[in-house]
Amino acid sequence: MNDATFHIVGAGLSGLSAATTFAAGGASVQLFEAAPQAGGRCRSYFDPALGQVIDNGNHFILTGNHAAMEYLRRIGAEHALVGPDKARTAFVDIRSGAHWTIAPSDGVLPFWLFDGSRRVPGTSATDYLEIAKLLFAGPRSRIDDVLSCKGALWERLLRPFLLGALNTQPEEASAALAGALVRETFARGGNAYRTRIAHPTLAAAFIDPALALLSQKGAIAHFGQRLRRIVFDGDRATALEFPEHTLPLAEHDIVILATPPWVAQGLVPQVAAPDDFRAIVNAHFKMSPPSGTPSMLGVIGGTVEWIFSFADRVSVTISGADRLIDMDRNALAALIWRDVAAALNLSEPMPPWQIVKEKRATFAATPAQAARRAETATRWTNLFLAGDWTDTGLPATIEGAVRSGHKAAQLALRRVRV
Ligand SMILES: Cc1cc2nc3c(=O)[nH]c(=O)nc-3n(C[C@H](O)[C@H](O)[C@H](O)COP(=O)(O)OP(=O)(O)OC[C@H]3O[C@@H](n4cnc5c(N)ncnc54)[C@H](O)[C@@H]3O)c2cc1C
Repeated sequence: MNDATFHIVGAGLSGLSAATTFAAGGASVQLFEAAPQAGGRCRSYFDPALGQVIDNGNHFILTGNHAAMEYLRRIGAEHALVGPDKARTAFVDIRSGAHWTIAPSDGVLPFWLFDGSRRVPGTSATDYLEIAKLLFAGPRSRIDDVLSCKGALWERLLRPFLLGALNTQPEEASAALAGALVRETFARGGNAYRTRIAHPTLAAAFIDPALALLSQKGAIAHFGQRLRRIVFDGDRATALEFPEHTLPLAEHDIVILATPPWVAQGLVPQVAAPDDFRAIVNAHFKMSPPSGTPSMLGVIGGTVEWIFSFADRVSVTISGADRLIDMDRNALAALIWRDVAAALNLSEPMPPWQIVKEKRATFAATPAQAARRAETATRWTNLFLAGDWTDTGLPATIEGAVRSGHKAAQLALRRVRV
């Protein structure tokens, strides 16, 4: 492989995916991360207010997310996720107190739709046919151009899942991105959409094992190293400038830029990138969940959308949460706790809490923003882009980030081998 060194900038999931792909193949890897820790938007940290390690935000993936699953296998963490043996997702409507669990069939044939007790209450089997329309959506269509966006199936299943996966109000979101999700998970049957959550933390599943693999393979990870400038000469990147040193790039060296889009735009001339973002708010309550609480519960009819239960905490996710970003934290915690108490049938006072607001959690998954996503290869032969915002064909998700990093690594390896 010549004497190439692979320089990866950004130790979020896309950067770690690229770095571990190179390192697993025995290549020389240097990883540069601006923050003192790896993980980017998928990180865990010790929170002094709660006295425990929490995640910046709850993350779930689906068993059909094959790149994420392959990444976990590569880093030896394939058993670090938990979730049901069957595709089962529990919901509660806190206005009526109604509870239900959808129970899809394992395989491609949707037998479950013919059993009312396994469907969303208030829906008929034929309602679900509408979902297939997303598979044929063009890149300019919004979801509300394609689906009716009303009725029990929409309110009680499609809207919450699409909001969670797209982090954008589903009505305005790209139907093609939603179609990609459907194609890779729902259309492949229940075995492809069993929910999976990192336990006890995101870092334990997605980050720490990757760093351990990199260290074991001799890769060097540098933290607190914010790339300030890429020096270009002709069709190559020739140096990386950090605040305290400049790293010249040798003839065969490769750079994978795995930063968020606004950073990539400042470092690479004329790179296309989304420029509209959506927030996610997470609230963490230090408590043991009542026994029998599912690890992931969909909440309908309140501010809270999903409740995740861990042994030492109950955590809440609210996607597309721009309306809440400037709200007073105490008032927000109280608002969220009211929904949690209703959903889990609790009468106790609000336990110690923490709120994490991620203002630019993901790019807005609208057709206009999707059209701004960048290709992996650039006009510089040794510079490749990675990140959930690059043109993966998927929304900004773990699966998209991991896939983008792996793709950048594959293209780079092909380039150094010719
Ligand atoms: C609260 C929240 C909840 C989410 N929930 C889900 C979910 O349930 N399921 C799901 O699939 N996805 C979810 N996501 C999305 C998922 O976290 C992201 O898609 C993924 O983590 C993005 O990884 P990335 O590598 O593309 O970007 P990032 O994680 O942003 O990584 C980029 C890295 O680059 C570093 N960096 C920036 N500038 C520089 C520089 N100049 N020099 C060096 N380093 C730099 C950053 O510090 C960062 O570590 C969620 C995101 C958030 C915020």
